[in-house]
Amino acid sequence: MEVAVIGGGAAGFFAAISAAHHHPHATITIHEKTDKLLRKVRISGGGRCNVTHHQLENRKLAKHYPRGERFLRKAFERFAVKDTIAWFETQGVALKVEPDGRMFPTTDDSKTITTALLGAAEKAGVRIALHSSVSRIERDLPHGGYVIHHGPQRSVVDRVIVTTGGHPKASGYSWLAELGHTVVPPAPSLFTFNLPNDPIRELMGVAVPAKVRIGTNAGMLGPVLITHWGLSGPAVLRLSAWEARQLQEVGYRCTVHVNWLGERGEEEARAAFTEHDMDRKHAQNADPFDLPDRLWCHQLQKAGIALEKPWGEVGKRDRNRLIDRLINDRFEMEGKTTYKEEFVTAGGIALEEVDPRTMQSRLHRGLYFAGEILDIDGVTGGFNFQAAWTTGHIAGRLEG
Ligand SMILES: Cc1cc2nc3c(=O)[nH]c(=O)nc-3n(C[C@H](O)[C@H](O)[C@H](O)COP(=O)(O)OP(=O)(O)OC[C@H]3O[C@@H](n4cnc5c(N)ncnc54)[C@H](O)[C@@H]3O)c2cc1C
Repeated sequence: MEVAVIGGGAAGFFAAISAAHHHPHATITIHEKTDKLLRKVRISGGGRCNVTHHQLENRKLAKHYPRGERFLRKAFERFAVKDTIAWFETQGVALKVEPDGRMFPTTDDSKTITTALLGAAEKAGVRIALHSSVSRIERDLPHGGYVIHHGPQRSVVDRVIVTTGGHPKASGYSWLAELGHTVVPPAPSLFTFNLPNDPIRELMGVAVPAKVRIGTNAGMLGPVLITHWGLSGPAVLRLSAWEARQLQEVGYRCTVHVNWLGERGEEEARAAFTEHDMDRKHAQNADPFDLPDRLWCHQLQKAGIALEKPWGEVGKRDRNRLIDRLINDRFEMEGKTTYKEEFVTAGGIALEEVDPRTMQSRLHRGLYFAGEILDIDGVTGGFNFQAAWTTGHIAGRLEG
C-alpha cells in the first residue's frame, strides 16, 4: 500500500509514524513543500516546545478549543494527553509539567522533540520528499486511490493524509475545495491587542490578574500583561481565540473592557475601602486591592485624584469614577500584534465532512485530514500540538 502524507509538520510526522506502526508493509512518503521539516515544532514555545497540557480529563481538555470541542471529544477517546506523554516516553523523551499545566521536554529545548520525531520516522522507514509541493489531488477511480500532483510529477497512491497546516488566505485551501470539501474561511487566532493611543502603555511590564472582555461576552479571567503596544498575557490571548472571528469582522477595532479587580463588582470594591479603613492614608497608599503601585497611581490620575490627597478627603464623585476605572476600564483596540510564542489559524476543512473517529473524509474514502488544516484551534498552552498529535495518530491508522 502506498501512502502519501502531505506536509512535514507535527501532524504529518505523527500521522506517518502511526501509519508505519499500524501498517508495517505500507510505503509511506511525507511530501514537504519547503526544505525544512517540523519548522513550527522547532520554533514553538519560544524554542522550548510546549508539547501538550497536563489535562487528563478529556472533557475538560476539549473545552480549550474554541473550534473543534465536540469533534475532539470523540477523537480524544482514542488518543489524548496520557498517550502523548507515553509516546514521547517510549522515544526516551521525558516531559515536565509547569505550574500552569503546560508540558515541555525536561531539556527545555524543542530540538529534543524534533530529534525524537525525525528518529522515529527514520526508524519506521518513512520516506521524505522535500521541495515537494502538492498542488492537486485527484481521484484515481479505476484503481480506487489518488493521483497527487507535486511539482511537475504525479504519484499514484492508495491513501492520502493531508496535514498542510493552517493558511492565512482562503486561496491556500482551493486545491482541497476542488475535491468538494467545504473550507471554513481562515481567521488568525492568538494575538495581542494594540492600543496605539492609550497612556496605559507607559505601564509596560505590569502584569495583573484581571478580567478582559469585548462586547457582551462573559470575558476571560487571567493574567493581563501591559506591553509597549497594548495588552497581552494569557487572558488576552484566550479572548483573542474565542473572539477570533468577531474581531476579524470588526477589523480589530473595538472597545476592550478590563476589570482590574478580576471578578469583583462595584459593591465589593466599595466595601474594600471601608474594611481596610483607608481614610488617613494618602490616596497613593490607599489601595486595598494590592494592585501594582504603578497601575494604582495611573488609575488615580485617570480618575482625577491627586496622589497625595488623604483618602478621607476624596469626594464621592471621584471615588465613583475610580471604582468605574477599576472595574470597567475601557480601551480602544486598533489592530493586533502576532504573539511570537504561538499563533494559529482558525478555519479550515469543515469538521462535519470528517469522521472524528478515523479522520477520514466523509466525501472520499482513503482521504484523511489531521492537524491545523482542520477547522480546529486551541488556546495557548500546548493544546494546538495536542490536537496535531491526536488527529495525526488517528489518521495514520488509516481506518474506515
Ligand atoms: C511561532 C509558533 C509557536 C508555536 N508554539 C506552540 C506551542 O508551543 N505549543 C502548541 O501546542 N502549539 C504551538 N504552536 C501551534 C502549532 O505549531 C501548530 O498548531 C502545529 O504546528 C500544527 O501542526 P500541523 O502539522 O498541522 O501544521 P504545520 O506545523 O503548519 O505543518 C504543515 C506543513 O505542511 C507544509 N505544507 C503546506 N502546504 C503544503 C503543500 N501544498 N505541499 C506540501 N507541503 C505543504 C508546510 O510547509 C509545513 O511544513 C505554535 C505556532 C507558531 C507559529
